[in-house]
Amino acid sequence: MPELPEVEILRRELQAQAVGRTVADVCLTGRRPGSFTQTDARAVLVNRPLVAVRRRGKLLVLDFDGGHSLIVHLMMVGQFLLSPPFASEPRDVALTLQFIDGTMLTLGQVDLQYVHLLPTKHVDAWPATQSSLGLVARLGVDPTGPHFTVEALAGLLHGRRGALKLLLMNQSVIAGLGNTYVDEILFNARLSPTRVAGSLSPDEIRRLHAAIAEELARGLALGGSSEMAFVHLDGTPGRYQDAFRVNQRKGQPCPVCGATIERLKVGGRGTYWCPQCQQSA
Ligand SMILES: [Zn+2]
Repeated sequence: MPELPEVEILRRELQAQAVGRTVADVCLTGRRPGSFTQTDARAVLVNRPLVAVRRRGKLLVLDFDGGHSLIVHLMMVGQFLLSPPFASEPRDVALTLQFIDGTMLTLGQVDLQYVHLLPTKHVDAWPATQSSLGLVARLGVDPTGPHFTVEALAGLLHGRRGALKLLLMNQSVIAGLGNTYVDEILFNARLSPTRVAGSLSPDEIRRLHAAIAEELARGLALGGSSEMAFVHLDGTPGRYQDAFRVNQRKGQPCPVCGATIERLKVGGRGTYWCPQCQQSA
């Protein structure tokens, strides 16, 4: 699934290539209806320029002139593509923004229930009651932001009895990390995914903090991870998956110690790790 680096890459590309374009039409073609209709979207977006694209955890927020925003969660395999030309043909398109200059932004491979249309002023408090993924109002700290210090991470871990991996994936604690990056982060930090989160020493917390920054930066620098369906706005894949050290390497030798990479389930999530490098004590 797209995680912080992939969503941030799309944010930057949308900001650079789509912002400033004015909507001529909106088409909803998802197989199932979402929380708003095509008529709703046309009423508030047509003839409005896209003015900004923001990221909140793994969510993209597209702000339009006139005071409305689209919030999008790409889920497992969602893709934004900007044409023309499409480097890869859009598949299973749920929403299309046609711009007056002839370009077209499509959102594919995501159910419309993960797309929301609401007044921009309500985005940060959204949604007050709905219990779905990545609620903006309940998102935790952004691990690339200024508030994510070693001390802040220590505070988030303190007293937590659950598995370290699950805490790192909890969007209401840290917003933007998911299954793929957390496995690489924990390998980098030499920490077991099953460690009790609250049991880390100060030195281990410093290692974990550094590993989070390193792996997110590596993912960004390599253009994101396309081990599933992530592509850039022009359809090209990223290369972080080629740099995986544990993900999808079950049975292969650890690149550091040579022991065999194993796969286990942590909270139901497939987890790759090196039992020799990653301390479980
Ligand atoms: Zn190892």
